[in-house]
Amino acid sequence: MPERVADAVVVGGGPNGLVAACRLADAGWDVVLCEAADHLGGAVVSQEPVPGYTVDLASAFYPLAAASPALRRLDLGHHGLTWSHAPAVVAHPAGPDDERAAVLHRDPADTAAGLDAEAPGDGETWLGLLDQWRRMREPLLDVMLGPFPPVPALLRLLRRMGEAPDAIRLARTLLLPMSQLGEELFKGRDGRLLLAGNAMHADIPAVAAGSGGFGWLLCMLGQDVGFPVPVGGAGALAGAIAARARAAGAELHTGARVERIVVGGGRALGVVTADGRRIRARRAVLADVSVPSLYRELLPPDQVPARVRADLDRFTWDLPTVKLNWVLDAPVPWRAVNARLAGTVHLGADDREISRWSAAISSGQESDLTFLLLGQMAVADPSRAPAGGDAVWGYSHLPRGPLRPGAAIELAERMEAVVEAHAPGFRDHVVHRFVQGPQELEQMDANLVGGAVNGGTAQLHQQLIFRPVPGLGRPETPVLGLYLASAGAHPGGGVHGGPGDIAARVALRSARLGELPGRALTRVTRYLGSDTRDRRTSAEPAARRTRRTGRSGATVPGP
Ligand SMILES: Cc1cc2nc3c(=O)[nH]c(=O)nc-3n(C[C@H](O)[C@H](O)[C@H](O)COP(=O)(O)OP(=O)(O)OC[C@H]3O[C@@H](n4cnc5c(N)ncnc54)[C@H](O)[C@@H]3O)c2cc1C
Repeated sequence: MPERVADAVVVGGGPNGLVAACRLADAGWDVVLCEAADHLGGAVVSQEPVPGYTVDLASAFYPLAAASPALRRLDLGHHGLTWSHAPAVVAHPAGPDDERAAVLHRDPADTAAGLDAEAPGDGETWLGLLDQWRRMREPLLDVMLGPFPPVPALLRLLRRMGEAPDAIRLARTLLLPMSQLGEELFKGRDGRLLLAGNAMHADIPAVAAGSGGFGWLLCMLGQDVGFPVPVGGAGALAGAIAARARAAGAELHTGARVERIVVGGGRALGVVTADGRRIRARRAVLADVSVPSLYRELLPPDQVPARVRADLDRFTWDLPTVKLNWVLDAPVPWRAVNARLAGTVHLGADDREISRWSAAISSGQESDLTFLLLGQMAVADPSRAPAGGDAVWGYSHLPRGPLRPGAAIELAERMEAVVEAHAPGFRDHVVHRFVQGPQELEQMDANLVGGAVNGGTAQLHQQLIFRPVPGLGRPETPVLGLYLASAGAHPGGGVHGGPGDIAARVALRSARLGELPGRALTRVTRYLGSDTRDRRTSAEPAARRTRRTGRSGATVPGP
């Protein structure tokens, strides 16, 4: 087969790989993208297990996508994407007997009225938070989702905030543990429930620094842009980004697993696929793959500095996920009737119990509590099920480390029991159900190692300059012309295209400025990665050590 030569090869066609392909092709580069699976989109994928019902197999709600500068610039509405919203954004019943859930409505005034009804004054607090968010939204999103270090965006943010003491107070708010932020902000239960449930979309423990900031971010996004879903299923979002990439001229291949990245003279020269195709990259290779896969599988071991290999032993995956999907012939009969209007429902634990649940699983123990996130997709998009039915999923997490046989199935059973307790009669309406445990998620998408949702933990010790391993927090790697473009890179997980867009921008800039800046940064990453005390030349010992600590989900056995 003749060798294909392109300006850039993108390895992996998840949202980040596709966004990277769009940016490079827009700049006139000849781009070839190789995706291992038979579909594009990675964890943005849906299928029809029962005729008429569309089930999202991983991600489902897209506040980050709706707000993301990288995705907004793609104008996906012209490439087949239509957003749809549930009448309410999020509901959280405090317990199974609750007849009224805390609700984040589409209209801020309705959310505030609900909070006030339970604790007068909390509504005003909510509207104050939203007002502050709207004043600083644009520079803040650029700081969070743009390249690191975000110097110009940070300066714009500081200017927008007006006073330095306000900025310092905001920084403190974002760093607070969820449990403390909830207590500081809200007198009543409902505000704390909304904050707690949203914080648990990432794996930062409820009592650890940063979980409050994450809960606040999702609450504000939910109030500002909602939790939209693509009409027709998650696959429609992936399809729109793929259509946009093709329209810009990118060549997208499925069923093309990249087996290795070819390196010569310290520079990425191209890739070889599992079926023997060779694609030469004139300018760059962008990897939308997991961090351990890039450094331990795709690169020759002698191209990975010893300290990077050692750092990978400490790379922390996010919590293993168990997802249960139900096809229903009726809506979920929630006892808390206002939960019937929400696309996303958090349930199984109130804010204090969430702290207990999160502390247990974060410290490696299974919890006696079962907290889950649930999506009732036809409430958000009626096209997902025949009239009167619904396609519903719920997911929860297990502790990191070796998986106890049967643990995933047991957790799925407990999740269903929690839903039945909150919605008596639920089970009578189940027409079809299937479980995706950590192993099934990873089989579907190699980046979801051990069922990890975010390409690596979202905890502070693996963010910014610590993402993916201590270094620069940038997409450059120790190999010239090779960029990390997946959720494993800053700014991390979620469907916002940030890592892909940043990697592409850096590759374009390096090409524009010539190789000198790229060489300088590559030297720095090599320096940060080198360690004269550790002269191991093979990745083998590192892989073995990870197996012992059980930190890498790649080594976690399935259910
Ligand atoms: C259960 C679950 C629920 C989630 N819910 C949400 C949500 O509601 N909202 C949200 O914003 N985010 C959600 N996320 C997170 C979000 O889906 C991910 O953070 C996002 O998809 C990461 O994008 P990515 O492009 O980095 O990686 P992925 O989406 O994982 O895509 C990576 C792609 O690379 C391919 N690949 C890997 N190795 C190779 C190779 N060697 N050769 C070729 N191809 C390769 C894979 O097959 C895959 O297609 C969820 C994730 C999961 C698992």
